[in-house]
Order: sequence, then C-alpha cells, then structure tokens
Amino acid sequence: MPSKSEQLFEISKQLFPGGVNSPVRAFKSVGGTPLFFESASGAYLHDVDKNKYVDYIGSWGPMICGHKHPQVIKGIKEMCDKALSFGACHEYEILLARAVQTLMPNIEMLRFVSSGTEACMSAIRLARAFTRKNKIIKFSGCYHGHFDSFLVQAGSGAATFGLPDSPGVVKDLASQTLTAEFNDIQSVINIFNSHPEGIAAVIVEPVVGNAGCILPEAGFLQNLRSICSEYQTLLVFDEVMTGFRVSKGGAQELYDIKPDLTTLGKIIGGGLPVGAYGGKKEIMELIAPSGPVYQAGTLSGNPLGMIAGATTLSLLSEKGFYDNLEDYGKNLEKGIREIAFKKGVPIVLNRCGSMLSVFFTQEPRVINYKQAKKSNTEFFAKFYHSMLKQGVYLPPSQFEAWFFSAKHGDKELEITLKAFEKSL
Ligand code: PLP
Repeated sequence: MPSKSEQLFEISKQLFPGGVNSPVRAFKSVGGTPLFFESASGAYLHDVDKNKYVDYIGSWGPMICGHKHPQVIKGIKEMCDKALSFGACHEYEILLARAVQTLMPNIEMLRFVSSGTEACMSAIRLARAFTRKNKIIKFSGCYHGHFDSFLVQAGSGAATFGLPDSPGVVKDLASQTLTAEFNDIQSVINIFNSHPEGIAAVIVEPVVGNAGCILPEAGFLQNLRSICSEYQTLLVFDEVMTGFRVSKGGAQELYDIKPDLTTLGKIIGGGLPVGAYGGKKEIMELIAPSGPVYQAGTLSGNPLGMIAGATTLSLLSEKGFYDNLEDYGKNLEKGIREIAFKKGVPIVLNRCGSMLSVFFTQEPRVINYKQAKKSNTEFFAKFYHSMLKQGVYLPPSQFEAWFFSAKHGDKELEITLKAFEKSL
C-alpha cells in the first residue's frame, strides 16, 4: 500500500512539473518520493503519514527561530485582523527596515521585494546602471536565484565567457556573466585584466551555501573588496542565506567587510516571502521613483511579511541567541567528526554558525565547487534515506547546506547523532 506521501506525489506530478514547485524538493539527486508535510513546530516537521522528523532544512533557511514561533505567529495573526495587503505605504515597512539597518548598518537605504531572486536580479540591474558597465562576475557553484544572468555555468578557464546553464537563457545575456573560482583571487584578477571595458559587479555568497557550505579563506573577501574598489566595480554580497544566519549582522559583520550592495531573503521574512536589496544611499537613490532604474512589486513590503520579519529579527537579539546556536553547532560537529572517524568514513565537515555541510569525500578540504563535486553522491543518497528513516530530515542533496534553529537542543542532537552513526 503506497504511503500518503506517495499517493499525493502521484497527483502532484499531474499538476506541477516534476511534481514540485521548486526543483530540489523533488529528491532527484537522492531518489525516492518526496515527503508531504502537514505541520511543523520548533525543530520538528510532521508528515502526512504521521512521521516526525528533526528538521535540518528550516524551509531552506528562514526558520532560524524554529517553526511556528509563538511571537511570530501572534504578530501575523494580529496583522491578519487588520489587513492582508495594502499595496500602499504603511508603518510596518519602516519597522522591518529599521530592524535590518540596526543589524546591518552598511544598508543605508533599501527596497523590499518578495524573494531572494528578485533581490539579486534588481541589485545587478542597479549595479549596471550605476557603473554604466554590463559585465558581472559570479563564482562557480554560487546561486543567486533563477534570473537569466545567474544561470551560467562556470567555464573551465576563469575568464571564459559564460554559457547558459538552462535552455531559454539568451546567449548574449549569459555572455555578460563571467565565472570565477571561489577562494581563488587570481581567477578574479584574470577576469578584470582581460576585460578592460570593466565589470559592473562582483556578486558573491560570502559563505557559500549552494555548493554545500564552503567558507571563505582568510583574506579572500578582503581582497575582493579591494579589487572592486580599485576597478570601481560594485561588490554585491548575496546574504540571502547568510544574512542573520552566520551572525546577527550576517557575513559582512562576521568578516568585517563593507559591500556596496547587499541582497537579503529567507530569515528577513520569518517564513513569509520577503526579500530586500540595499546599500549605499547614493546607489539606492537610482531606483525608481527617486531615480531612473525601474523595479516594482505588487506585494512588495506586504504587512504580513513585514511583521513576520520584524518579529523574527527582534528575537535574534535575545540574550545568548547566537551563542546557543554556536554551542549546538559545535556539539553536532564534534559528534559527527567522532563518529565518522570511528567508522573510518572520510568526510570534510564545513560549518559556519548554524549552517554546515558534511561532504563524503577523500579530499583533505573543500574550498570550492570543483572540490565539492568530487564528493560521493551515491553514498550521500544512501546516507540520506537512512537518516530519513530514523527521523532526520536533511536537504536532499550533497550540495546544500544544513540549517538548524534555536529550537534544536540536546534531544535533537542525540537523535541526529544516533541516526548518523547508524547511517554510515
Ligand atoms: N541567493 C541565495 C544565496 C540563495 O540561497 C537563494 C535561494 O536559495 C537565492 C538567492 C534565491 O532566493 P529565492 O529562492 O527566495 O528566490
């Protein structure tokens, strides 16, 4: 008898391409049927077949306070009694904007949008308008949403023109995106040297999450900052994933770098669809209606998202919030390393605060996508399903970061490590 998830997936496949509304949910890289969930609370997800899982996805990042936080829910409920959307100015936009600025003072002015993709896409348009240059540099393995300019494969040589990664992306546009290697500053310098017409923006996930978790090596982000300043290129930190995650003020606080523009998503909406881009006032003032760069959104700054985001950001300032996350991360990391060592399974574990990845690889370290790709994805798939069977819900790909929340504690650690031991 098929499970309820299996039955629902059969129906979904008739309705949605691949049965899903975002590709990685389809379990393509680990095989099997995706689970259907009916509720979530704290550190746990509950599926339609009455199974309970310790959640390491957190809705792909937003749920840093845990699912269904009572204060966030209260804020949303109270807002529902007032309005769902105004499509006009209201005070809750200011509330969230101020909360963002307090945590990220580099953001002098910002614009709310409804997703991380929109934030990154708009930031690039703005950078092109501000610098009057066309080309952008991104890094192999970094993901900035599904806008055409970002769906570009890494060429084997750092300075090669980009090739579209997806049919439908116009080659001419893709050729404006140049791909460098993360943690390899020379690959960036080479591109600058071979493009005297100039580069509008360098966009980077300061801690990569989309090739699995990869940390910047000492000096890499500082060097990027210097090169961008030297060439009058805007440095765009895509903090959709790292913002309010790797520290309260994001990667820019952790590594003490001032990007020209920052893009945000995920945590900023507390589980509702909110994104933002912002930075220096002189750049942001180019956005319509104060400037000529057009960007708009029917539901941008919607009050439910604003209140969910503002409440979530206020919770991050509670005493010990990040210390507790760090403690959980340290214990999880220690436990996983010990088990892998005991079982003789080679791993590389990369962690930055409450995001981490376990790469099943013989490589001594993983500092770029090329190395990440050497991981044993077949092993990961088996490991994944074993973890699932034991009640631990990980992202269904070797090349995604695991996230945990403030609600993950001793009990969840024990469940996870027991499952890990059985799954190796
Ligand atoms: N940038 C980064 C670093 C992301 O991780 C993502 C999504 O995972 C995006 C941009 C796109 O955000 P969204 O899925 O909200 O469009």
